[in-house]
Amino acid sequence: MTETVEERLARALRVVWQRLPASTQALLDGWGYRLEPTLPPLVEGRVTWAKCRGSEGTLLFSRDQISAIPDWALQTLAAHELAHLALLRQGRDGWRDEDRTDALTASWGFEMGRLRDIVEGRES
Ligand SMILES: [Zn+2]
Repeated sequence: MTETVEERLARALRVVWQRLPASTQALLDGWGYRLEPTLPPLVEGRVTWAKCRGSEGTLLFSRDQISAIPDWALQTLAAHELAHLALLRQGRDGWRDEDRTDALTASWGFEMGRLRDIVEGRES
């Protein structure tokens, strides 16, 4: 049986969660996520794959975008969004800083480089 997008996303989030330090899991307490049909662009002219709504502690994922990406990319995307939320919860001003977010994502074992190639259209 083929996994649904919902199931794949839930599985990716479980994989990521298991790699987070306990202190980070505690910091992220109460977070949630939603799968949206699509997301409005955060940057003009650029498709938005996912976003972190920090005030609610909610991660939003675009079904249109994540349906076609492999598991490793989905895990990396999920880790990246959790990293945004973790930085915000740590009180970091730069929680929207992509470099800092990528560095935290990498510290959990998820490399953003290849995902950025896909997101930015250098690889399909
Ligand atoms: Zn980001």
